[in-house]
Amino acid sequence: MTSFSEIAGQPMETPSSGLLEIDLGAIRANYRLLQSRLAGARCGGVVKADAYGLGALHVAPALLAEGCRDFFVAHIDEAFALQPVLPPDATLYVLNGITREAVRACAQAAIVPVLNSCDQVNAWREEAQRLARPLPAVLQIDTGMSRLGLTPAEVAELVGDVGAFVGLDVRFIMSHLACADEPSHPANSEQLANFEQTRTLMLKHPALARAGYSFANSAGIFLGADYHFDIVRPGVALYGVNSQPDSKNPMHSVVRLFTRVVQTREIMADAHIGYGYSFTASGPTRVATLAVGYADGWLRSQSGRGSGWCEGYQLPILGRVSMDSMSVDISAVPDGLIHSGTPIELIGPHQTVDDVAIAAHTIGYEILTSLGHRYQRVYKDGSASSDAIKI
Ligand SMILES: *Cc1c(COP(=O)(O)O)cnc(C)c1O
Repeated sequence: MTSFSEIAGQPMETPSSGLLEIDLGAIRANYRLLQSRLAGARCGGVVKADAYGLGALHVAPALLAEGCRDFFVAHIDEAFALQPVLPPDATLYVLNGITREAVRACAQAAIVPVLNSCDQVNAWREEAQRLARPLPAVLQIDTGMSRLGLTPAEVAELVGDVGAFVGLDVRFIMSHLACADEPSHPANSEQLANFEQTRTLMLKHPALARAGYSFANSAGIFLGADYHFDIVRPGVALYGVNSQPDSKNPMHSVVRLFTRVVQTREIMADAHIGYGYSFTASGPTRVATLAVGYADGWLRSQSGRGSGWCEGYQLPILGRVSMDSMSVDISAVPDGLIHSGTPIELIGPHQTVDDVAIAAHTIGYEILTSLGHRYQRVYKDGSASSDAIKI
C-alpha cells in the first residue's frame, strides 16, 4: 500500500497519527459465526468501553442488523449514550450494577441493571414499589471469581425471603467465567457446577422460577453447549480477537491500523535511539520515525520488542516507544521504498491484534481498548461504501 487513499479506498489526506479502519461487516460475520455455534441460546453483544474502543455507536447498529437485541455495557452512562441508536425492542444491561443515586434514572430509561448484591436488589425493589410497576432486572451470582455478584450467603438470604423480589421482573440469572480462555482449566467445570447448584437453589423462589440463565462470554461459547444456557455474552470475539489463544482463531479480523513515516535517517555504529539511549546501533542502520506512540495506545511495553510492516518487510521497533513517535529499523527494505508519508502497517494481515498483544506483554482486549481517538477512523461495512468519519 503506497498511500492512505489507497488503503481507505477513497481520497483522504494523510492522517496525523494514522488510519484506523474498522470493518463492521467483519463484526457482523463474527456475530453470525458465534450464533451458528449455539443451538437454542440467544446471542447478545458486549459493547462496553465504547465497544472495546471500536465505537459503540457504529458497532451496536451493525449487531442490530444481524438480529442482536441484548446489549451489555459496564456503566449506566454507557447505556445512556447508546440508547438513542437502539430500537425499543432492544435491551441494554449494565453489568457493573446500580447505585442508589442512579436508580431513578435507570428505571425511567428502562435500562436493565445487573444486580450484584442484596443492597442493589433492595434498592431496585424499593424503586419498583415506589413506581408501583414491575422493573426488569438481572441477578448475578459469584461462582468463583470473587469480583461481582451475590455471594452464597446473599443467595441464601434472598431465597429465604418471599418478599425479596416483589415488583421485580427477573429476566435471567447470570455468572461470569474466570478461566474460559484455558479450556482445560478445572475452574471451568467447577464454576459450571456452582452455577448449576445455585440455580437449583434459586428455582425454589417463586419469583425466580421462570428466569432464564446466562453464563458464557466469548471464550465460554467455545467451551460447548453445557455453557450456553439461554443467552450468551460475547465481546472480544466479535472484535476479531482470539478468545482461545491455544487454538487457531476462527474469527474474522476487524481492525487494520496504519501509521505514517514522519522522517527517515541513517545512523552509524554507536549512535543511540530514543529516550534512555536504550538502543545503540552496532553498524550503519536506516531508521524511520513513525507518527505513533503510547499516547495513541501503542503501548510502551513494545519498546525494543514490537514491529511495523511495509511491503512484506518486518520493521523492528528500535529503542523506546515515545508519546507521539517511535523508531523502526528499515535497513532491510530496498532504498526509496520508505519515505516521509509512507503508510506503515501496525495491525493487519502481517500482524494481528493478538500478535501485538504478545509483543506488548498483554492481551488483545488491552490493545483494542487503548487505541483511543487520535487516529482518523474509517468504518467499512462489507460491500457498502466506506465512510470516512473523524471522531
Ligand atoms: C466483558 C464481559 C463479557 C464479555 O467478555 P469477552 O471475554 O470479551 O467475550 C461478558 N460478561 C461479562 C460479565 C463481562 O464483564
